[in-house]
Amino acid sequence: MTTKEHYIITNHPCFNESAHHKFGRLHLPVAPACNIQCRYCIRKYDCSNESRPGVTSKVLTPYEAYERVKHISGRDNHISVIGIAGPGDPLANEATFETLELINKEFPELILCLSTNGLLLIDKLKDLLRVGVKSLTITINAVTTETAEKIYSKVCYSGYCLDNHEGVRLLLKNQWTGLTLAIEAGLIVKVNTVYIPGINDGEIPLIAHDAGKAGANIMNIIPLYPQAEFIHIERPSHEMLNNMRAISRQYIPQMTHCRQCRADALGVLGEDRDMETEMLYSILGEEQYDRVC
Ligand code: SF4
Repeated sequence: MTTKEHYIITNHPCFNESAHHKFGRLHLPVAPACNIQCRYCIRKYDCSNESRPGVTSKVLTPYEAYERVKHISGRDNHISVIGIAGPGDPLANEATFETLELINKEFPELILCLSTNGLLLIDKLKDLLRVGVKSLTITINAVTTETAEKIYSKVCYSGYCLDNHEGVRLLLKNQWTGLTLAIEAGLIVKVNTVYIPGINDGEIPLIAHDAGKAGANIMNIIPLYPQAEFIHIERPSHEMLNNMRAISRQYIPQMTHCRQCRADALGVLGEDRDMETEMLYSILGEEQYDRVC
């Protein structure tokens, strides 16, 4: 591991359990558009692959996002990571790159991070590296097209929505090839997998195996939040989740401290302030905020 990789892993609250007590992250909701439809996603809320269920973030322009970083970094020196995780897919939004470029120029010490469904990862990898992204989360829920067709109902690429079989084939190819290319390019990579009982249970250990073999750093298995087309599927119990993590851990380290952040989250994991509470915090000041809120 290079010194740079070591620095990212030890200072990033998602990649290192002990860092999540010390370091915080700021998520910038600049990316509303998405290019696929996951059957468990309701698009009026933030992307379900990374975000807390049922939450909608107010979208910021790149300049507003930059101003937010400036404002917060002047006051909170625990923030080590700036992430873009939605509310849609960051790679499907040009605003993502404009935002990261602005921030990287002014705050090169901050770790830039991004989450994606992976469809555009091959196409956008060069841009990610150019704007200074250092760590990446890719949500991969399947290895076979049969399972992927059960999970995704639409894939749109280059301005067209494809026939679903072709669409999921392209999605899987781009996710897995993109994962390998991102690792080869030196990015620190986390794989998120939504655990959907009866749909992808059989493939999660395979995802863990292939992701670990490709060199991904960590895997985060997220229990399905039943909604949209999957409202009838029961959320996996803690026991089911722990068993799945135990099986998958033989191939790749497992993340167990995930708090499913909001797309506008701020702070240390588990002590989030969203944009509204943040505004209140700046108006009231720390002492009064703690008393009132
Ligand atoms: S990638 Fe995220 S925003 Fe897009 S459909 Fe899937 S869960 Fe929803």
